[in-house]
Amino acid sequence: MFYEIPNDEPIYPISTAAKLLNISVHTLRMYEKEKLIIPFKKNTNHRLYSASDIERLKCIRNAINESKISINGIKTIYSMMPCWEFIGCSEEERNYCPAYSSHSEPCWAVKGENTICSKKECRNCDVYNKFSECSNIKSFIKNLSRVK
Ligand code: SF4
Repeated sequence: MFYEIPNDEPIYPISTAAKLLNISVHTLRMYEKEKLIIPFKKNTNHRLYSASDIERLKCIRNAINESKISINGIKTIYSMMPCWEFIGCSEEERNYCPAYSSHSEPCWAVKGENTICSKKECRNCDVYNKFSECSNIKSFIKNLSRVK
């Protein structure tokens, strides 16, 4: 019996992830700096990527190369995610949360110090993971009207 590696298990070092995606390590670091991806960080600060991360990055690469969407465009799409619906923030909490008003950055890039999310691990959050596959984004948009 073989161990089946779960999709969300971080196993690929940055050089392997870059090879799988046919991009440079520098580009991968830039995506992280731009907050398109949150890799798993080891105690040594080395990054590891899971199969889900690779899928997410493929979706990002397709958006950039095939659909000609810029990095800022992708961030704008991410910023449209109504994270407050998933987290269940109160009206008051929304009013002082930068993620509620941002039109250009995803919630995980702008979450405030004293918000409901400040101590949450975004890499493990449903909101962040909704964008792990291109098809998820489409079905998320289709289901938007059903959230509540
Ligand atoms: S935990 Fe992070 S990804 Fe999840 S809603 Fe809060 S800021 Fe966004």
